[in-house]
Amino acid sequence: MRRAVFLDLNGTLVMPVQVNVPAEYTPIAGSIEAVRLLNKAGFLCPVVTVQSRIERGVYSEHTFRDWFQTLQRQFSEGGAELLGPYLCPHSSRAGCDCHKPKPTLYRDAARDWEIDCARSYVVGDTLDDIRAGSAIGAQSCLVLTGWASRYVDAFGHEAAFVDADILTVAKWILRIAS
Ligand SMILES: [Mg+2]
Repeated sequence: MRRAVFLDLNGTLVMPVQVNVPAEYTPIAGSIEAVRLLNKAGFLCPVVTVQSRIERGVYSEHTFRDWFQTLQRQFSEGGAELLGPYLCPHSSRAGCDCHKPKPTLYRDAARDWEIDCARSYVVGDTLDDIRAGSAIGAQSCLVLTGWASRYVDAFGHEAAFVDADILTVAKWILRIAS
């Protein structure tokens, strides 16, 4: 069984948090380096993301998946492998089984890649990410690059670790997991 660092996308790997065209997302400084370091230490990095803008018709699932492949190539050129995407295209009102903090997409990734969730981590910028981590028995880490910068006082205490961005969080994981 392998270990993973499940990564949120918007506000964790890329910014800005919301766009009308996926091509407007750009990798957050240090995010490629973070994934490269995690991979090197043996961690798989599946991306688990809610894209409710697909259900709302802002962009299509096809457009999103096309763009994600471009992002994967960009990371790959930096020696970093992003798995997935494990995608929920619904709004939170849709009552689907895949919306965070439900564990479904994380369990899918765990099954696909033989991941031991109890020895893994979830990194994200929202309370849903943190609670998804709890739901699968992983340790949750909060980054302050996305929404969390506004809400850290409200839910930061639910995370095992809180820091500025994905690179500092990755270095913390590598320290405590070694
Ligand atoms: Mg996010």
